[in-house]
Amino acid sequence: MSDSKENHLPESSLPVKKGVSVVSEAVCQEVMGRADAFTAVENVFSAMAKNTAYNFPVIREAIGHADALYGFKSGFDRDGMVLGLKSGGYWPGNVQKDLTNHQSTVILFDPDTCQLKSLVGGNYLTAVRTAASSAVSIAHLARKDSKVLGMVGAGHQSTFQLRAAVEQRDFEKIVCWNFHPEQIPNLAAVAEELGLPFESVTREELCAQADVIITITSAFEALIDKDWIKPGTHIACMGTDTIGKQEVDAKLLTVDKVFTDELAQSIMLGEAQHAIAQKLIHQSDIVPIGEVINGTKTGRTSAEDITLFDGTGVGLQDLAVASVAAELAEAKGQVTYFNL
Ligand code: NAD
Repeated sequence: MSDSKENHLPESSLPVKKGVSVVSEAVCQEVMGRADAFTAVENVFSAMAKNTAYNFPVIREAIGHADALYGFKSGFDRDGMVLGLKSGGYWPGNVQKDLTNHQSTVILFDPDTCQLKSLVGGNYLTAVRTAASSAVSIAHLARKDSKVLGMVGAGHQSTFQLRAAVEQRDFEKIVCWNFHPEQIPNLAAVAEELGLPFESVTREELCAQADVIITITSAFEALIDKDWIKPGTHIACMGTDTIGKQEVDAKLLTVDKVFTDELAQSIMLGEAQHAIAQKLIHQSDIVPIGEVINGTKTGRTSAEDITLFDGTGVGLQDLAVASVAAELAEAKGQVTYFNL
């Protein structure tokens, strides 16, 4: 009924179609803050757990050119009415061209018509949404009295991770270990800017001191032993997003409580892949963090619990932040439009 009414609206009262919006990397950086990213990611994890948002199977292929890995992640969030995909990959030669190795673009469609809505730069948003993911895990799973944050990794993502994490708890100190020691000063500079003492330590010392640990490396072998972790620690494993990668001892997945962004990815290409392959855990031992957000499953139950979050990075996170960035940019008149 309402459709036929709308079809007869005079042209002047129809919504003005401006065309496809383009939101540049620079504009994303200007409009998309950590608080908005946190809310967008928390909401989409919640929707995933309610089965109102779905990630579709991920495609990732070596293309046989430029040593590159290309792929796309797509999904639909029925609650947020966001449909689209992030396409991009890893081009190792980019660094010689003064470009970031990881390149991506988010493409958003109108869920009612499938018309192209927006093209949004995905590089900055990937870092922001990944940092928001571990921040959501800290907010819901780390002890409230956590004081020391341990950073394993000091590459591109690590500074975003640090900035987002320190907003969740009253951390008093940062400890760090990195495979490439020459990168550590980049992270130390951010800690200094945030007014937090920073210490470069061994991996074992990091685990002895830290109440919250973030791993964000491209390691293919375990860097953290289960025996090094003290009771009450929360660990957010954020680097393992591909089959074969690994940052922590597989036995660490047998700690009190293991959580993830998405179960299917966790057991296939996340940190849990190794514990599953070694039959140390069953997939039913892993809880989607959305269940904790929604209150349908418990998170930490005691100050002694060791909690682990396997943050694999899902397409819906990209779509969530890109959609908010596009809305904010459009509201501020910072987009350009084109018609196909
Ligand atoms: P980067 O290249 O800037 O930094 C790589 C980091 O890994 C550095 O700290 C480096 O010292 C460390 N490293 C490299 N080789 C290592 C080894 N053999 N052992 C231990 N550490 C090693 O990369 P980045 O952009 O900071 O990304 C870090 C990781 O996070 C990558 O694996 C990337 O795929 C992953 N990532 C995950 C998500 C997600 O949603 N989970 C999102 C973005 C990136």
